[in-house]
Amino acid sequence: NVPEIGSPARTKAILNRYRLVAKKSLGQNFLSDLNILRNIVTAADVTADDNVIEIGPGIGALTEQLARKARKVVAFEIDANLLPVLDDTLMDYDNVKIINQDILKANLPEVIRDEFEPGHPVKLVANLPYYITTPILMGVLQSNVSFDQIVVMMQAEVADRLVAVPGTKAYGSLSLVMQYRAHVEVAFDVPRSAFIPQPNVDSAIIRLTPREPLPVMPYDDKALFGFVKGCFAHRRKSLWNNLQGIFGKQPEVRERIQTVLQRVDISQQLRPERLTLINFIELVNAFHDEGL
Ligand code: SAM
Repeated sequence: NVPEIGSPARTKAILNRYRLVAKKSLGQNFLSDLNILRNIVTAADVTADDNVIEIGPGIGALTEQLARKARKVVAFEIDANLLPVLDDTLMDYDNVKIINQDILKANLPEVIRDEFEPGHPVKLVANLPYYITTPILMGVLQSNVSFDQIVVMMQAEVADRLVAVPGTKAYGSLSLVMQYRAHVEVAFDVPRSAFIPQPNVDSAIIRLTPREPLPVMPYDDKALFGFVKGCFAHRRKSLWNNLQGIFGKQPEVRERIQTVLQRVDISQQLRPERLTLINFIELVNAFHDEGL
């Protein structure tokens, strides 16, 4: 009876057997705590009806727990050295497919169409490579794929930014883009001691579920994201300063910026971190109406 992949003993045995040295540059920290692995699968409420995309299966610890519950698991792994390892560790699971590709270059809609039978929920569950957490999440949320559920592990500091509310230090464009796209919550925290090798940060599991419709929508998503980014270009400066950074400082432009701010009733002296998502949406729409 072989212990499960995510047990510390088996993880160490696999690393020894294949003489694997975790690659820091690829964010390789292997989660080896069966309780946490199972809790991740539970947080995503994975059932036999679900198709699952995983990013970075590593040696297969999370993949194994997913494969036990899901209909099918498709996992993207960039490191070709791990392919023979995964072939071996996941040998008993015929509902797993590993794709040797950089997730940032993957065509997710196409893979989902080709690999999954339609009519089943599609979920994303992963212990993300931390060096590309933000590009992965941005890419996923801006792609045409609508996941029924996303449950991902990331470093605690980034998780804090995702769930941050206005007026806090962690609040910024990342919080706004994520909260515009989804309902975001921390499912639970994970200590660094749960990994081999241990990273030098703690982690958290974030759950993203489809959000309730907003009372106002921006005229264009990308315009909203660009606008929010511009407003946070200098987060310690006032909204007024940042808006001039976006639209220009000419007297005529400044006058029009003031007109817009009066129209939406937002003080130019506020710092961008005071504005809510709705404020940003109203603002970007108002500037668009003004022709700026
Ligand atoms: N899922 C495993 C676990 O929980 O123990 C490993 C997680 S480890 C934090 C991140 C994994 O992502 C590594 O296996 C790494 O090789 C892989 N990875 C790194 N960059 C990637 C990329 N651009 N595309 C796909 N996988 C990547």
